[in-house]
Amino acid sequence: MRLFEGTQWDAIPKCDRCGKLETECNCCPIPKPKPAAVPPEKQSVRMTTEKRKRGKWMTVLVGFQFPDDEERKDFLKKLKDHCGAGGTIQGEELEIQGDQTKKLRPFLTQLGYQLK
Ligand SMILES: [Zn+2]
Repeated sequence: MRLFEGTQWDAIPKCDRCGKLETECNCCPIPKPKPAAVPPEKQSVRMTTEKRKRGKWMTVLVGFQFPDDEERKDFLKKLKDHCGAGGTIQGEELEIQGDQTKKLRPFLTQLGYQLK
């Protein structure tokens, strides 16, 4: 029995497109898949409220680790739908209009996020 028989190191992987061994293949590199999302349990999110102009409150969330902007936008939409409020993305922060901590705390905890 060879050392790596039956394991992923048993054979050099073959190219999906030309069928040659990857070491001999001259195909263009396959585009990288999206980076895997960090599981919510591994994300430490800080939720604060800030008073803005004209006495309006904003709920500010920092610490999410989204694989890309698309995911960030989708998640903001989920939060806005849940709160029935508007919201924006400010760099790495998500802002939801109003003091939404009572609504967001159980929602985010249920999704598995570690809230600080
Ligand atoms: Zn190839």
